[in-house]
Amino acid sequence: MYRSVFGPALCFAFAFATSGGPTAPVQAVLPHESYEGQKVVRVTPRNAGDLMLLDQISGDRWNCGPVGKSGEADFRVRPEDLPTLDRAGIQYRVIIDDVQKLIDQEQAGMANPFEDRAFFDAFQNYASVNSYIDTLAAAYPGWVTRISVGNSIQSRDIFGCRITSPVPPLGGSPRKPVVFFNSCQHAREWISVMVDMYIATQLLSTYSTDSVAKQLLDTYEFVFVPISNPDGYNISWTSQRLWRKNARVISGTVRGVDTNRNWSVGWGLNSGSSGSSSSDTYRGSAPFSEPETQALSNYALSVPKLVASIDFHSYSQLVLRPWTYQYTSPPGKIAFDRIGNAMVNAIASKTGASYEYGGPEILYLASGTAPDWFFGATGAVALTIELRDTGQYGFVLPTSLILPTCQDAYAAATTMVTGLCRADLNRDNFVDDADFVQFAGAYDIFLTNAGDFTGDGQTDDNDFVYFAGAYDSFVCP
Ligand SMILES: [Zn+2]
Repeated sequence: MYRSVFGPALCFAFAFATSGGPTAPVQAVLPHESYEGQKVVRVTPRNAGDLMLLDQISGDRWNCGPVGKSGEADFRVRPEDLPTLDRAGIQYRVIIDDVQKLIDQEQAGMANPFEDRAFFDAFQNYASVNSYIDTLAAAYPGWVTRISVGNSIQSRDIFGCRITSPVPPLGGSPRKPVVFFNSCQHAREWISVMVDMYIATQLLSTYSTDSVAKQLLDTYEFVFVPISNPDGYNISWTSQRLWRKNARVISGTVRGVDTNRNWSVGWGLNSGSSGSSSSDTYRGSAPFSEPETQALSNYALSVPKLVASIDFHSYSQLVLRPWTYQYTSPPGKIAFDRIGNAMVNAIASKTGASYEYGGPEILYLASGTAPDWFFGATGAVALTIELRDTGQYGFVLPTSLILPTCQDAYAAATTMVTGLCRADLNRDNFVDDADFVQFAGAYDIFLTNAGDFTGDGQTDDNDFVYFAGAYDSFVCP
């Protein structure tokens, strides 16, 4: 028999506290949304009219980008919309029968308080990932530095960490060349958060036993931003599991901007985004109108030498090169192809999962994306990875697939960075005279980082030593 020793006064205090006083944090005013009975259908749109109808009915295309050369796309629909598809003659197949059921299973699986879970056994919310960074920093003092790249619309910290080994940079440079891995621009793509933290963890924990991890941490500094869109992530954890965009308020309502259509390179071009705020690919009122994209891009520009980046998304199992906003091949496509194909092969041999490498020719254009900006504005090798799966669970991946997907991503990320052939300045897969001409040009004007291999932001004698070594070996890895 229990009796409160505090009496009714404290109960009142609790009631008051939970009602949210003036000091309560700003929250998105979004109702809880149930997806009961809703389905995900896979369709093959025959033309723009089909796509328009599907966008109208559904408003929620599930693939971040292309799904493959088949030309298929996945849409979340209400059961009462299926006859409309039938009448329009649009062929579809139901790949998820009840979205809410999947979400309920996900929640039930994670709510068991009696199970002592490791970090990668379950998806983790904002607070948990935030404290995980502190855990890493405490476990690897001097190797892990906590960073904040800025704040979201609702003033959440866009946190992350920098990781490198104590081996000093080449040529007395203050900082090693930087590799940038960010995740979760799209809120509901929870697996991307886990992957970002797994790569960080794995590099650190295998440094002493794995020569690849050692070589990477000795050569580069890795920057991880696991939750690029913290407001949206919070919405997806608290009220609307399938929220994608940020928390931009438009006409008094949280409608959101798709931050991965808000970057300046290719912004608004080629119908690869939407100008309507009700769309899930709304590009925002201007390039970099959103604090989240401003923060990430400013951080990337503050780094003396950025050499590579991956923007993690789900789902579809793809490795995508620039450009995402146009079909024209990027400069150095041959090097992208070498690296991208190696990544796909590395995933297959590590976990057996089948990923596809390609550009927008695989299907759709997406304009104003992070990788196009990273490549176009900084020259870094920049890729998008669409993680698991291929549609059975979509965004609501079972926790049993967290670790295998993390292993996919680790194999891909390490293969990408080891495959960088930085002295191959014209990216034709050879370090030859043409590269020497380019290097000499950068060396002559000194204050350019075009030939900067040491990471100090300038092209100088230390870089010449590096270049000469690569030139001797002639061929890229
Ligand atoms: Zn995405």
